[in-house]
Amino acid sequence: MADLVPFDAREGKIWYDGKLVDWQDAKLHVLSHGLHYASAVFEGERSYGGHIFKVREHGERLHRSADILGFRIPYSVETLEKARYEVMKANDIVDGYIRPIAWRGSEMMGVSAQKNTIHVAIAAWPWPSYFSPEARQRGIKLAISEWRRPSPDTAPTKSKAAGLYMICTLSKHKAEQTGFDDALMYDHRGYVAEATGANVFMAQEGKLHTPTPDCFLDGITRRTVIELARRRGIEVIERHLDESDVVKADEVFITGTAAEVTPVGLIGENHYQVGSLTNRMMDDYQAEVRKASAQAA
Ligand code: PMP
Repeated sequence: MADLVPFDAREGKIWYDGKLVDWQDAKLHVLSHGLHYASAVFEGERSYGGHIFKVREHGERLHRSADILGFRIPYSVETLEKARYEVMKANDIVDGYIRPIAWRGSEMMGVSAQKNTIHVAIAAWPWPSYFSPEARQRGIKLAISEWRRPSPDTAPTKSKAAGLYMICTLSKHKAEQTGFDDALMYDHRGYVAEATGANVFMAQEGKLHTPTPDCFLDGITRRTVIELARRRGIEVIERHLDESDVVKADEVFITGTAAEVTPVGLIGENHYQVGSLTNRMMDDYQAEVRKASAQAA
């Protein structure tokens, strides 16, 4: 990874407040509310064969995330959808990752920011796999995070808000420093919540179990996988999972736009096989994103 070109030194175009600008000119002032007080919301999307999977859901979630933080994005979902495709075209992205972000600007610099301008930017770049192919093959290793997902009355947990990632970065760094790929986070009650940027599923005796998303993101990939599994006649149970489920599970995988369906081989000291249910959901998910792309063409 060390030889990657830093993100601020790349070439291309970024959509910024209504127009395409040169990649390296897509800057913000250091006295931006979004930077100091985390008043920023974003999306992570993937395009397959030139089509952004579930683009409308992502677009609507961005607006909803901003509403939850008390600000209004000054562009419609439709306008930003067109902008995504302009960005992809300008950067020759067919299979790639799209990152829209909206944040409060610089008019007021304090906790209150009632009058701040809302800025929006959209970038896109090629990004083949969130975890290394080897890690995906053997199943990724999840450490157990010491950080807990907060209660909905402690943080705006339904928003894909930048501030909620503070504990994710802390968890993921600690995991990587101790030889793991990522971390599993429990919630404020001690129930299994999710990984640092993906939802989690556990297979037990041929059924899939996944935590009820009552204090973390109900991922678009998560919902897609539930639908795909049910289409196959696989029972999916949404419920509170705890440590005993982590011990009992036969297979574990995580889901997310970036992670897609990624098998988990280890959580803490518990080992799992990359089994048939995981393989089936990986294959079904790839088929689904390609089918959506073909239908859109
Ligand atoms: N949880 C967190 C914390 C995430 O960052 C993501 C990725 N957006 C997800 C879950 C999965 O969401 P989605 O499937 O919508 O990408």
